[in-house]
Amino acid sequence: MTEQVVIIGSGPAGWSAAIYAARANLNPLLFEGTPQAEMIPLGQLAFTTEVENYPGFPFGNVREFVESSVAKDRHWNLPPMPDEQRDGKPYYAVQGVELMELMKQQALNFETRVVSDDVVDVDCSGSPLRVIPANGDAVESQTVIVATGARANYLGLASEEAYKNKGVSACAVCDGALPIYRGKPLAVIGGGDSAVEEATYLANLKGAATIYIVHRRDQLRASKIMQKRAMEHPNIEMVWNSTVEEVFGDGNLVTGIKLKSTVDDSVRELSVGGMFVAIGHTPNTAFLHGKLEMNEKGYIQWAAPFRTLTSVEGVFAAGDVADDYYRQAITSAGTGCMAALDAERYLAAHEA
Ligand SMILES: Cc1cc2nc3c(=O)[nH]c(=O)nc-3n(C[C@H](O)[C@H](O)[C@H](O)COP(=O)(O)OP(=O)(O)OC[C@H]3O[C@@H](n4cnc5c(N)ncnc54)[C@H](O)[C@@H]3O)c2cc1C
Repeated sequence: MTEQVVIIGSGPAGWSAAIYAARANLNPLLFEGTPQAEMIPLGQLAFTTEVENYPGFPFGNVREFVESSVAKDRHWNLPPMPDEQRDGKPYYAVQGVELMELMKQQALNFETRVVSDDVVDVDCSGSPLRVIPANGDAVESQTVIVATGARANYLGLASEEAYKNKGVSACAVCDGALPIYRGKPLAVIGGGDSAVEEATYLANLKGAATIYIVHRRDQLRASKIMQKRAMEHPNIEMVWNSTVEEVFGDGNLVTGIKLKSTVDDSVRELSVGGMFVAIGHTPNTAFLHGKLEMNEKGYIQWAAPFRTLTSVEGVFAAGDVADDYYRQAITSAGTGCMAALDAERYLAAHEA
């Protein structure tokens, strides 16, 4: 049997593509992946707590809605409820896992078929395309939507891992406005454009305290205009020639970082309420073995502006795997929808 649409990836792009493809009667099959280093089914949002910027999810008793919508056999996956109460009722932003379970459920409601395996290769040499999972049971399909996302790069410290979501983040736009960071001095680690962008975003938040950019060299790699922006910002302070040795805190939240000089090996502590790591992302494209055109950072390149087509006919790309600029859940969901519509139009145009 040849499938019409196979979707690879289980973040907002993958589930949105599935919802659109399923509602267009394309009977999609989705590979959701398995837990691996820095990657889990349900995508990057499954690593985070509150999601305050996904439209349609204001504060409230989200859990009641989630439990009434998501199949009971997956309730075990739901995170513990935060304690915030208003008028004696739970009152909080949707949690990353809750939002992703809702997206998955919506795709399942329209009979998306899900395979819990990783795709290890896609044979693009002929038509139909062949999607090869780790279990070896290859699937033929007329179209493939790649929605495998990207992973934030971290420093690799045990203390950094221990404080993730408790003051360590890799996304200022996502997390910077959360109460745990509000009004506190913060450190951004890195020296490229994204480090300066993250620092500027944090420095411009209402009530922002000092934002330190910690860089291992004595000048930024960022573009000249971004450097100027950072240097001239009254809330941004540069910490040159320094690497992070340790993140420390009170067990619940970060209270500082230990810095080692790259010049003379001296060590000092910097009091901060949070650390944003901005040392790049790695797109999950290794399994494609270079068969699609990619940019120099390994992100899939769209073959036409505002179209999700790739360099291979019948293969579409959506979400962070094709976006090293916006990297948000809402933009990924948007391009997931676009990819399903593009696949539908491709199938209509190639109808036998
Ligand atoms: C800590 C953190 C907090 C964030 N907070 C926010 C926020 O508050 N708001 C916001 O808008 N964005 C936030 N983001 C960014 C957001 O999570 C991403 O932009 C979004 O999840 C990208 O969606 P995606 O569908 O492209 O891919 P992903 O979410 O990356 O999902 C792709 C998934 O596909 C699966 N996969 C990968 N390779 C394979 C393979 N070979 N075979 C099968 N499956 C595979 C994996 O399970 C992977 O996780 C946050 C990110 C992080 C890391």
